[in-house]
Amino acid sequence: MHQPETEVRPSIYYDYRVFNPWLPSSHPAQERKKVVIAGSGPAGMVTALELARHGVPSVVITSELQVSQGSRAIVFTRRSMEILQQVGVAGYMTENGLPWRFGNSYYRGQHVFRMEAPHDPDDRFFPMLNIQQQYMEEYLFNACAANPLIDFRWGNKVVSVEQQADFARVEIDTPEGPYTLETDWLVAADGGRSGIRAAMDLKMEGASYEGLFVIADIKIDLPLPTERLAFFDPDWNPGNTILMHREPHGIWRLDYQLPVGETPEEALRPDSLKARIDAQLAMIGYATPLGRWIGVPSTRHAP
Ligand SMILES: Cc1cc2nc3c(=O)[nH]c(=O)nc-3n(C[C@H](O)[C@H](O)[C@H](O)COP(=O)(O)OP(=O)(O)OC[C@H]3O[C@@H](n4cnc5c(N)ncnc54)[C@H](O)[C@@H]3O)c2cc1C
Repeated sequence: MHQPETEVRPSIYYDYRVFNPWLPSSHPAQERKKVVIAGSGPAGMVTALELARHGVPSVVITSELQVSQGSRAIVFTRRSMEILQQVGVAGYMTENGLPWRFGNSYYRGQHVFRMEAPHDPDDRFFPMLNIQQQYMEEYLFNACAANPLIDFRWGNKVVSVEQQADFARVEIDTPEGPYTLETDWLVAADGGRSGIRAAMDLKMEGASYEGLFVIADIKIDLPLPTERLAFFDPDWNPGNTILMHREPHGIWRLDYQLPVGETPEEALRPDSLKARIDAQLAMIGYATPLGRWIGVPSTRHAP
């Protein structure tokens, strides 16, 4: 039986809401669906809203009871905003996000490049907007919940898919046990490590490179504008890259690359985090006394 986490996720900026799971016993009749979407990340919810915009009903099946955990996407381009506008959530993003268009790159301590993304007063959206992914997911979910063509099922996990001649049979597990849905179309929006794509032996194409980054969201008041800061081969992290972005709610996000061979366990030790965040703040001229910043770290692979 699928038992999704019910404990509220920790965050220094986002108040998580735990939704009730959709239970099959309260909805006995399950006729064949037109579209089932596995996953309620940005891809799954935008797909559901776009289909609804074209009059197509869908069922969103999602394994968790909360929006995504931790620091994930934080910068949204103008093109993303145009797509979000189509599905009715761009207003919430601009109301709560931080627009920007300048970036500064430093190489070994020298300012070597200033990016200036063009922006016309008639442009509806800024070239970039910073807001944490949880908020975008919340706005998308609210739009899905308000749409009668979207049947949203928290706490439901796709466990297997059987391909039939002209439909798919989807086995779904819930906190009170499994049920089956038949659907004309199944959209695998179950993330970068999609179990559905793996089961179908569908591989992502394209180039990738190795590199492990620590992401630290810290609450700190830095008197700096909303501009991207990128540091290449800095003194305290030779050979590696560091990015800094201002986020809403008094948060700065640091992404720093780890030296080759360092494990996530070593990198996430409190003393290691503190030394590196302090080194970064000192490098940009804001050395902080012990305890002035608080943060929640995680690691990610290079994009
Ligand atoms: C640590 C981290 C940092 C990141 N930083 C950035 C960044 O700085 N900038 C950036 O642009 N992007 C970043 N990303 C990437 C960004 O978060 C993803 O590109 C984005 O979330 C992908 O959206 P998605 O809808 O395809 O998948 P996801 O957001 O991963 O959503 C997948 C959904 O599928 C659900 N699911 C999974 N399996 C099942 C199943 N069997 N049954 C039902 N539901 C299932 C999950 O619960 C989830 O709702 C980061 C990601 C991570 C993990």
